[in-house]
Amino acid sequence: MSLQIYIDGKFYDKENAKISVFDHGVLYGDGVFEGLRSYNGKVFRLEQHIDRLWDSAKSIALDIPMSKAEMIDAINQTTAINNIKEGYIRVIITRGVGDLGLDPFVCVHPQVIIIAAQLALYPKELYEKGLDIVTASTMRTPPAALNPRIKSLNYLNNIMAKVEASRAGCEEALILNHKGEVAECTGDNIFIVRNGELLTPPIDAGILEGITRNAVLELAKKSGIVAKEIAFTRHDVYVAEECFLTGSGAELIPVVSIDKRIIGNGKPGTVTKKLLDAFHEETKR
Ligand code: PMP
Repeated sequence: MSLQIYIDGKFYDKENAKISVFDHGVLYGDGVFEGLRSYNGKVFRLEQHIDRLWDSAKSIALDIPMSKAEMIDAINQTTAINNIKEGYIRVIITRGVGDLGLDPFVCVHPQVIIIAAQLALYPKELYEKGLDIVTASTMRTPPAALNPRIKSLNYLNNIMAKVEASRAGCEEALILNHKGEVAECTGDNIFIVRNGELLTPPIDAGILEGITRNAVLELAKKSGIVAKEIAFTRHDVYVAEECFLTGSGAELIPVVSIDKRIIGNGKPGTVTKKLLDAFHEETKR
C-alpha cells in the first residue's frame, strides 16, 4: 500500500496528496510545522511538540482548525495507518488558500498535513566517526525580524546555510546570530563540553528551543553533568573538548571538527557518549 498522507481530515495515497498552488504556504512559506520521532510506535515527547506547534501558530496569528487532543489523535491515526513503529513524522499547518496578495486573513481554511514515514537518518558510521562541519557566512535571522523560536514553513535562512554546508562537503553548518555568537545549526541545536561542563546557547541567542536539546539538558543534570545555557563564540567551539548536535531526527550526533579545527582528540567524546546512551534509554522508556 502506498504511503497514506493526512490532509484536512482525510487520507490520500502519496501520489494524490496535493494542495492548492494558491495556498499561502506555497506562495509565501506562510505556515508552521513540527518534526517528530516515534520509537516503538510511540511519539517521543508528543505533548511538547504539540505545544511548540501551537505557540508557533499563535505567534504568526494562525488558528489551527482543531484541538490539541484532535491533533494528537490525527498523528496517532497517521502512524497507525502507515504501520510506522520507528519513524519520523512531519506535521504541517499551512495558512490555506488565498489570493496572490499577502493578506493572510483572506485565507480562511488552514490545511493540516501529516506525513509519517520511515526514518532517513544520518548513516550509523557518522555517529561513530562524528561530523565535520563549517561555520556558515549566513547569519541566523535576528529574533526581532522573525523569531527562530517559530518553526515556520519559511526555512530559507536555514537553507542558505545548508547550501554553504553542502558546498563545503559537510552535512551541517554552524550559524552565528546577529551578535556573532553561536546560535545553532541548520536543523539541529549545538552543545559543547568545556572543562567538563556542558554548554549550549540560551534561547535568547535566537534559536529554536529544541525538544531534544531540552531532553539532553535534563538528562545531563540527572547524570551529574553540570549543564549551562550560556552565550559563547566560535572560539569556544574551536577549543572545546567535545561538541555534538541535537535534533529529533539526529538525536545526538558528535562533531569532531569545525572549520578544519579538530575538536578535542578528533573522536566522539566521553560526555557525548554518556549522554547518547542516556538519551537512548530515555527513548525506550
Ligand atoms: N534547530 C532547528 C533550526 C531545527 O529545525 C531543529 C529541528 N529539526 C532543531 C534545532 C532541533 O529541534 P528538535 O530537537 O525539537 O527536533
